[in-house]
Amino acid sequence: MNFLTIFARNLIQGPQTEAFPFGPAFTPDRLRGRIEFKAESCEGCRICERVCPANAIRFAKTSDGMTFDCWHNTCVFCGNCEFYCPTDAIHQTNDWNLAHANADKFEMVEHGLIPNQTCVDCGATALNTAPMVKNAKPPLSPEEYSEVRARCPKCRAKYLKNRKVPA
Ligand code: SF4
Ligand code: SF4
Repeated sequence: MNFLTIFARNLIQGPQTEAFPFGPAFTPDRLRGRIEFKAESCEGCRICERVCPANAIRFAKTSDGMTFDCWHNTCVFCGNCEFYCPTDAIHQTNDWNLAHANADKFEMVEHGLIPNQTCVDCGATALNTAPMVKNAKPPLSPEEYSEVRARCPKCRAKYLKNRKVPA
């Protein structure tokens, strides 16, 4: 093929590379990117914090509840947190677009809060979680799950003990 033929073919074909950043770039659905956290599903077990090899996840107790922070700058996108989370409260999106100015590095954080609440039975302050429901037999209905979450650990145990299970 001579030069003119190649030149004409390339003109007809157009660019073969991605137009990014002026257009969308192909991203596989299963790409392991930015972490997303759903506080409403979290049990506060802190397994994700323990299995994170980069120490990118931190929980802290505050007067409002337990805060969750995941530092995107530190995360190595290994997927351990999602793999070990028992409630699907943490997962990796396929968002890889995390470039940022150095001055913004402290903004590159996924924040979450598991709020404190007042137990509907005894009035004690407790985290809005339901760590005991995994082993409930038969499994809890969505209404029962909400009722368990609305109680403190002691009252949750009582609620589960007195639960009427169909014969
Ligand atoms: S996100 Fe999952 S693994 Fe992490 S504390 Fe919550 S329930 Fe546990
Ligand atoms: S993907 Fe890996 S490095 Fe990133 S927060 Fe999860 S466990 Fe940590």
